[in-house]
Amino acid sequence: MKFEEIIEQQRFFFNSNHTKDLNFRIDTLKKILFLLKENEHLLYKAVYDDFGKSEFETYTTEFSLIYHEIKLAIKKLKSWSKRIKVRTGFANFPAKSYIIPEPLGTTLIIGAWNYPYQLSLLPAIYSLAAGNTVILKPSELSSKASRAMATLINSNFESNYFHVVEGGVSETTALLEHRFDKIFFTGSIPVGRLIYQAAAKHLTPVTLELGGKSPAFIFADCDMKTTAKRIVWAKFINAGQTCVAPDYILVEKGAEEKLLKALYKELEKYPKTFQEFSDHYMQIVNTKNFDRLNQLIDESKVCFGGTRDRDARFISPTVLKDVSFEDSIMEDEIFGPILPILTFSDLDNAIHQVKSRAKPLACYIYSRNTTSINKLLSELSFGGGAVNDSVMHLSNSNLPFGGVGFSGIGSYHGKAGFDAFSHFKSILHKPFWFESHFKYAPYSASKLKWIKRIME
Ligand code: NAD
Repeated sequence: MKFEEIIEQQRFFFNSNHTKDLNFRIDTLKKILFLLKENEHLLYKAVYDDFGKSEFETYTTEFSLIYHEIKLAIKKLKSWSKRIKVRTGFANFPAKSYIIPEPLGTTLIIGAWNYPYQLSLLPAIYSLAAGNTVILKPSELSSKASRAMATLINSNFESNYFHVVEGGVSETTALLEHRFDKIFFTGSIPVGRLIYQAAAKHLTPVTLELGGKSPAFIFADCDMKTTAKRIVWAKFINAGQTCVAPDYILVEKGAEEKLLKALYKELEKYPKTFQEFSDHYMQIVNTKNFDRLNQLIDESKVCFGGTRDRDARFISPTVLKDVSFEDSIMEDEIFGPILPILTFSDLDNAIHQVKSRAKPLACYIYSRNTTSINKLLSELSFGGGAVNDSVMHLSNSNLPFGGVGFSGIGSYHGKAGFDAFSHFKSILHKPFWFESHFKYAPYSASKLKWIKRIME
């Protein structure tokens, strides 16, 4: 079926008001939950075939979150969809005021490959929960996971309600020719810009979940052993192919050796060669990305790891030391298992360096000192982050997840996910039994005097 037919049918179905029914939406969410649970192993296998991601990591970084958020949406949908009563000022007496959350219509969701299920299905779940229809276009780079989602969804839902389109640039470009009521995109900054331009043609609202270089500040006063454990997990999960991974470390001068020692100890648990490859590590998604990462490794700065195998698309966890902001690795988001370490002695200067670049998607601060923590929290702008941890902030559905500036527009997760796919319609509701005559002609000085009193 052609894209325009699917979109037209979705619009027709949306206009039938079926999707506005709360029970219909809750049944949809329950059905998705059931289908995912029933087919979990097929989905695990698909992503394993894509880039060697184990069941353990697929569950902990994708399905646990999806299940949690679907269950949350099922539980909270009634309260999220309720009219919100707000105060009415004296100027409108007697009246009541309320806000009605309403779905937007036909939505397009474009996913990234690195967490193929979570980044495609979570926005879809929130769009459906809010009462929209969905066309989902997962990434072609995780083609097996995309195929598995397409098979599962397209054989269990009508295309006029929820449909998966497989494909890459040409399919996405063709989809973007059409008008949607919302576009939700997860991916890189350059493609995000193209999506924004395409959306602007139809004045379509967007959520853009993009990337960037997320710093981790490590102060000498932190618990170095725990810090290293948390940093290593967050950086090397998914082989560093995580949008919120700590991209680089800024460690306080004097604490470098202690940090490196603690990092090495943690890194011993990871494979050093592809022959040692195991379930707790994974491959680089394709050769193009392998080659890009390979070029970023400056041999003279490698202090741990650095083993590469192009045929296997394998790069062992790699640490670079004595890195400066001028090094090429500090230009763009790394998005791979390479961790550069920079040192700072003057916090203001370190803040200045970060601030002079695009606003990061995340920032992590490891310290026991409230003054340092609060200084960074107040002076640096970034999407979100954690104090004394990394990445885990996105597992709390009470924390809206999204970027700022170049790292994105809008946010989701939990209630913010529902809100991202809703319009909040504001209503002033008046009875007929009273009318004040101040605002009506003929105007007079005394009427104006009264209006000023009431309005201000
Ligand atoms: P990408 O931008 O290459 O691709 C994302 C999606 O856009 C894919 O579905 C792809 O098919 C489509 N696409 C690619 N080129 C296109 C084009 N020219 N026109 C139209 N559509 C196009 O990103 P990626 O490689 O899949 O993911 C990596 C990037 O995504 C990193 O920068 C990472 O930080 C970011 N990311 C952000 C988040 C987040 O939640 N903020 C999550 C994951 C990844």
